[in-house]
Amino acid sequence: MSKVESSTSTTARIPSFVLMIIFITLALSLTALISAVSFFTSGEEVIAGYLLLIGALGLAFSTYMLLQTRRRISSLRIEVPPVMSTIECKKCGFKNVREFQRGDYIFKEVEPCQKCTDKMLITAVYREVKEKDKEKERSSF
Ligand SMILES: [Zn+2]
Repeated sequence: MSKVESSTSTTARIPSFVLMIIFITLALSLTALISAVSFFTSGEEVIAGYLLLIGALGLAFSTYMLLQTRRRISSLRIEVPPVMSTIECKKCGFKNVREFQRGDYIFKEVEPCQKCTDKMLITAVYREVKEKDKEKERSSF
């Protein structure tokens, strides 16, 4: 598992332009809030109200964006399960599951069987999902 995780670390980066948009929105809404206060103290309550609304919306938007990007990154990290290859011996039925190796394909002949030393075939190549335990149960007989 740890081997595969290290290869996915490159996808877990927030695009810099998204961060820039978030920070600009944050700065603008903070400015709107600050000027709302100054407008309020000078008696311009309608303008102050509008600025307050804009500032609040901007703050809500930027925090929402931040949360969204963070969630997307964490889901990316989880959503890359390792690719597995199922190897089967046609002679004695011995089954083995190992991590996918470059050049693996279905019906490729691989290393000899551990039991009868006959050649083994790759019978399945699949991405390992969270239902790992179910898969193990199914292939154990
Ligand atoms: Zn065998």
